[in-house]
Amino acid sequence: MKQIKNHTLLSALCDNLDNTIAVTNPADQTLIGHVQAHSREEVEATILRARDAQKAWAKTTAKQRAAILMRWYELLMENQEDLARIMTLEQGKPLAESRGEVAYGASFVQWFAEEGKRAYGETIPTPLADRRIMTIKQPVGVAAAITPWNFPIAMITRKAAPALAAGCSFVAKPAIQTPLSAYAVVELARQAGLPDDLLAVVTSEDAPMIGDVFCNSTHIQKISFTGSTNVGRILMKQSAESVKRVSMELGGNAPFIVFDDADIDLAVKGAITSKFRNAGQTCVCANRFYVHDAVYEEFVHKFSLAVDELTVGNGLDDDVVIGPLIDDNAKLKIKSLLDQALQQGATVSAGGDDLGGQFFEPTVLTHVSHSMDIVQAEIFGPIAPVIRFSDDEELIEMANDTIYGLASYFYSKDINRIFKIAEALDYGMVGVNEGVISTEVAPFGGVKQSGIGREGARQGIDEYLNTKYICLGSM
Ligand code: NAP
Repeated sequence: MKQIKNHTLLSALCDNLDNTIAVTNPADQTLIGHVQAHSREEVEATILRARDAQKAWAKTTAKQRAAILMRWYELLMENQEDLARIMTLEQGKPLAESRGEVAYGASFVQWFAEEGKRAYGETIPTPLADRRIMTIKQPVGVAAAITPWNFPIAMITRKAAPALAAGCSFVAKPAIQTPLSAYAVVELARQAGLPDDLLAVVTSEDAPMIGDVFCNSTHIQKISFTGSTNVGRILMKQSAESVKRVSMELGGNAPFIVFDDADIDLAVKGAITSKFRNAGQTCVCANRFYVHDAVYEEFVHKFSLAVDELTVGNGLDDDVVIGPLIDDNAKLKIKSLLDQALQQGATVSAGGDDLGGQFFEPTVLTHVSHSMDIVQAEIFGPIAPVIRFSDDEELIEMANDTIYGLASYFYSKDINRIFKIAEALDYGMVGVNEGVISTEVAPFGGVKQSGIGREGARQGIDEYLNTKYICLGSM
């Protein structure tokens, strides 16, 4: 903690909290600090304050809102190192990845500061001579978000920045494991001049309580959720009563396909970053690898050698590229998937060992078949099952054979195949010869049970805007 220079960022750790939640480091289980445990009444009061603050905010111009958001962006970047350290302490990811996430998270604030100025309406050619028809875009009102622990900053800014730019207020519930990053980014928004109560964080060990309050509140017009498909289903059901707008960024089961004409070294490089970033705990992580028969041996050999080189340890230590898993349950889950796969006939080609604590060795599995549990489940850990294929049609069937439809990846040099496969993959996002595709300028989101709506890009702000039709008659 001594290395964190901006102490106001850790104001959430103040001594006078009355009812607290402990935050621990997943690398060594040491206590990092505490955050407030909010009661139902406190969550409701926060929503009411956000409702009142939004009224004045909606009356500001997009240009005025952009100036504050730009200052917030600058402060996020000026405090990149401190934010990265807080993130690594509570989440575990290596410092280099945390620095990258701070920059990625800040990029949404910069992008939507600009996009807010481009929330255009339309004038529409009239079918009746005495009428003029137009639309304007207006903020939905109060938006609320529930976010996961795997991207503690970016999953908040990717939602809060378009909401604030659109003229909404925003209340966020971060994951219980990573609330400090959320409080830190809100503190920087305050320092940037964002009026009080427009952006608030609420925390509780009772997540269903906050979900219930958010979904049933008539003061909240929009819920944006990032997390598991199961919890997304619960929130959608709960939101039905108040007919709330929802955005859902849910689970994935990304195929990573290597064709016989692929550049194998490039594919191995992409496979390493796509699979093992954040210890395999990202929704867009490659989950299952399909490699053409003709290049299978070469790919598995080179991939396994590269995996053996990955250093596992505390994310604050130099050279570490794989940090701990988020908690004991995460480790138990991947160990059970691995055991099942081995019983079903898979063999370990690299790694495979439990390294104690919450650490697990990055692992490559071969002799895997498409029907195995480890291929069907979202692994969310550092295990890469590799399946052999020989026929493109059969491959597409296997790749699309899942309830999920978030990210997908493939490697090929054939331009005809590139278009054909990119169009045939039933996913919201396709990386072609590229293993890391997230950027603020492109629409992020899934199809099927991976979600509803898009984040980032010009589409991202529409999630927080209503379109109003105005008809001028008797002209
Ligand atoms: P999770 O269990 O769904 O938790 C996510 C958030 O939901 C946390 O803040 C959690 O609170 C809260 N929550 C849990 N149960 C709830 C309930 N009944 N009502 C209201 N809120 C509830 O997901 P996770 O295991 O932390 O995160 C991993 C999942 O997120 C994976 O499936 C991954 O694919 C997905 N994800 C998707 C994207 C995307 O953009 N599509 C991005 C990142 C992650 P507590 O922490 O307090 O329990």
